[in-house]
Amino acid sequence: MLRAFFIYLSKLHWMRSLILKLGLTRKASRRFVAGETAQEVIEVVRQLNRQNILATLDHLGEDVHTEADARNARDDYVHLLDLIHQRGVPSHVSLKLSQFGLDVSGDVCRELVASVIEKAAQVGTFVRIDMEDSSHTERTLAVYRDMRQKYSNVGIVIQAYLYRTEGDIRGLVNDSIATVRLCKGAYKEPASIAFPRKADVDANMVRLMQFMLGDEAQAHGTHLAMATHDVKMIEATKKFVAEHNISKDAFEFQMLYGIRRDLQQRLAAEGYKMRVYVPYGNEWYPYFMRRLAERPANIWFILSNFFRP
Ligand SMILES: Cc1cc2nc3c(=O)[nH]c(=O)nc-3n(C[C@H](O)[C@H](O)[C@H](O)COP(=O)(O)OP(=O)(O)OC[C@H]3O[C@@H](n4cnc5c(N)ncnc54)[C@H](O)[C@@H]3O)c2cc1C
Repeated sequence: MLRAFFIYLSKLHWMRSLILKLGLTRKASRRFVAGETAQEVIEVVRQLNRQNILATLDHLGEDVHTEADARNARDDYVHLLDLIHQRGVPSHVSLKLSQFGLDVSGDVCRELVASVIEKAAQVGTFVRIDMEDSSHTERTLAVYRDMRQKYSNVGIVIQAYLYRTEGDIRGLVNDSIATVRLCKGAYKEPASIAFPRKADVDANMVRLMQFMLGDEAQAHGTHLAMATHDVKMIEATKKFVAEHNISKDAFEFQMLYGIRRDLQQRLAAEGYKMRVYVPYGNEWYPYFMRRLAERPANIWFILSNFFRP
């Protein structure tokens, strides 16, 4: 119920304008958002790297309605990739296709995303295409498939809560393009297309993890990034990997900036590849609302900020 409410709020433009103006919510958002500028976030990556934790940087933004805004998003990412290169910090980038104009023009979106992937290739790094709500799933997969015809330094996110996901993953594996970040899914979807029960989402996530780390998928060059803070999912992965003698280098764990830092550090110390998704920028409102939706207990954290001197 609360989850649905926060997802609903995340889409309200008037609420976004109101909340962005409130200094106190900006302060609270800092729990999940690393900073406002690319310079600030590079420092955060350095701190993570010192703990053997890798990063993927997200310049926050989504749902743009003009080609000009989409082109600005591309320019921001090119600037970020230049900075990653100049400062010598190893970091991937993550982006959302609605930020690159997917809802304005598929062709413009493809052109802009391709230019970011090319830039990333020039500086020796990798681009992850995030997955948005189900109205974008088919088009996001189509853009990803087009990008993979030309580039190998790009991967996609797949959500375990969708019924269609197993078929999507099998299709990507068969075509030897399954470079996948697997997550549970952060949006509110109807029971007609997504598992309504958490237990079913979890079971699907474990099944998909086992399939992607299994012999058949690995023979097709599959790479899995297991994106979760759920200890049960993490333990299931560790168990599967140990039982099948899979190298700790063959996959990675991913978590979000500001969530379960203790677990991030522990996995890195145990020798697993650990990558943290680090968002930054001014457009933090919908991202922040989704983090509240995932864990309504976070609202107490926000309220405590209001009353802190
Ligand atoms: C690296 C990364 C990238 C992602 N990219 C996408 C994407 O492209 N598309 C998409 O739909 N979703 C994405 N997600 C979000 C994901 O779908 C889930 O909504 C989110 O990760 C919560 O699910 P969970 O697996 O952590 O498990 P849950 O069962 O939801 O949570 C397990 C435990 O993690 C902790 N936790 C989880 N969320 C929070 C929170 N917000 N605040 C505090 N503690 C929390 C709590 O301790 C909780 O008990 C991404 C997640 C990660 C880690």
